[in-house]
Amino acid sequence: MANRVAVISDIHANLHALDAVLAAIDEEGVDELWCLGDVVGYGPRPNECTALVRERVSVCLAGNHDLVVLGKIESAAFVGEAAAAARWTTRVLEPELRQFLDTLVSRAEVDDAQLYHGSPVDPVWDYVLSERGARNSFAATSAPLVLVGHSHVALAIADETTGLQGGQAPDGTEIELGAARLLLNPGSVGQPRDGDPRAAWLEIDNGAGRARFRRTDYPVEQTQAEMRERGLPESLAARLSHGG
Ligand code: ZN
Repeated sequence: MANRVAVISDIHANLHALDAVLAAIDEEGVDELWCLGDVVGYGPRPNECTALVRERVSVCLAGNHDLVVLGKIESAAFVGEAAAAARWTTRVLEPELRQFLDTLVSRAEVDDAQLYHGSPVDPVWDYVLSERGARNSFAATSAPLVLVGHSHVALAIADETTGLQGGQAPDGTEIELGAARLLLNPGSVGQPRDGDPRAAWLEIDNGAGRARFRRTDYPVEQTQAEMRERGLPESLAARLSHGG
């Protein structure tokens, strides 16, 4: 089992956020990097982000945005801004990077962890945002550690004998590994929705027996300027300022 793992998710073609997170991860010197999907969609730099993920990540899942851009799920699943951004991404995505995304699936098992983009109930579309969602996710899995993305909200839920414990996991939240089964969402690198605009990621230290939720500053205005240059929807750029 890898001793130290960094987990990222929902990059959404935000290269400045990804660069900042990778620099922070490199400073920590982890053994492996896992990505829970949505490499592209919404953001302005899909090619650069996909190339970096292909180079750096040892496990990568496919998210719903990746699958829509590939034409593997109905683009009618998206409306409005998400659909406009997906159409733009489909146009600009280079064939060899498209090929890489095409190899990905939305679930994986690695070491003592089960990984899903959405949830164990529906790895592509289901959001784990409620106690019921967390309960269903524990019921559908058996690994000590269950990792999900998709909601863009950093989350830590423990399946204690007394019931489910936990909730949103802001910067610096530390979780003990091994005491209870855990459901963790690292939050989103490229489009956080939990009120903290900084890029989110998760550090798992199996040796020390703990996981730590991290946030990393990045130049939000540079990503916003690139989105406006490319004619991506203004509301997608604006929301990056407040992480909502
Ligand atoms: Zn996403």
